[in-house]
Amino acid sequence: MFKRWQWSEAYGFSWEGHVFPLGKYARLKDRLVAELGIPEDEIGRPEPLDRDTLLLGHTAEYLDRLEAMTAFPEQGWYEFEAPCSREVLDGFYAMAAGTVAAIGAGLESRGFAANLGGGFHHAFPWKGEGFCAINDIVVGLQAAHRDWGLGRAVVLDLDVHQGNGTAKALEDEEWAFTCSIHQQNNYPIKQRSDLDIGLEDRAGDEEYLAALDRALEVCRAQDPELLLYVAGADPYVEDRLGGLDLSIEGFAERDRRVFGAFLGEGVPVVAVLAGGYAEKEEDVVEIHFQMIQEGIRVENQAKANPKDCR
Ligand SMILES: [Zn+2]
Repeated sequence: MFKRWQWSEAYGFSWEGHVFPLGKYARLKDRLVAELGIPEDEIGRPEPLDRDTLLLGHTAEYLDRLEAMTAFPEQGWYEFEAPCSREVLDGFYAMAAGTVAAIGAGLESRGFAANLGGGFHHAFPWKGEGFCAINDIVVGLQAAHRDWGLGRAVVLDLDVHQGNGTAKALEDEEWAFTCSIHQQNNYPIKQRSDLDIGLEDRAGDEEYLAALDRALEVCRAQDPELLLYVAGADPYVEDRLGGLDLSIEGFAERDRRVFGAFLGEGVPVVAVLAGGYAEKEEDVVEIHFQMIQEGIRVENQAKANPKDCR
């Protein structure tokens, strides 16, 4: 049995002075305990993955290169724009393990589960990119496909940046459908997802949610056995690396619609966090926290009344 929440102290490695807010993981976990009354022992501590499992998402040459980099952490800046120390790499391994375990929990419970970390969608099979060393989404889905017979799966990536690494890694997998809604004029160099919706700069709640409705219809039509929800916090109006204008309330509505479209139809949803670079770390934590709250709320509603949860 997998626990439906996954988190590890290893997620909070140190990238001093970096824009990536690594403190958000522990703060989110603490809020689940303090505000939602979730006991610490119901939050799983992911077991390290073996190399064969990591090889489902990455080449041996790349994994070896990352290991070698830990002796010269500064080289990580050339690989994925951040240092790659032993602590950092172990943090990425832990987050990949967390996504595998959260997918396990989602498939077992047929409900909502989340990794309180993960979402490193810019890592390619053969290279790191954009703060991402290990693509936990790809490793997680491939592991579920290999070990638990996962069939049709949809990745819905709502980070402000396109899920380029994920799209590339899964492009030849017929069982996987990738969908990304992102800011068109922003990092990265785009790859082709099965469905891409690139929004104009400064698109706000209304435009964003209209695009989401279109995407949800297409994603639902795939009839998936699992939705992997990459719940990025960086479409936020105050994000420093994003140029969309989603409000905190807009995020709540976004999450409600995503969970409603799948949990309400009996399709498990597994969420990972991805990006979020607001000046105030507590805003990023708040966006992730309300995503977890919405998932729980919609799941409870769906259980009580399976066909009327939207
Ligand atoms: Zn992002």
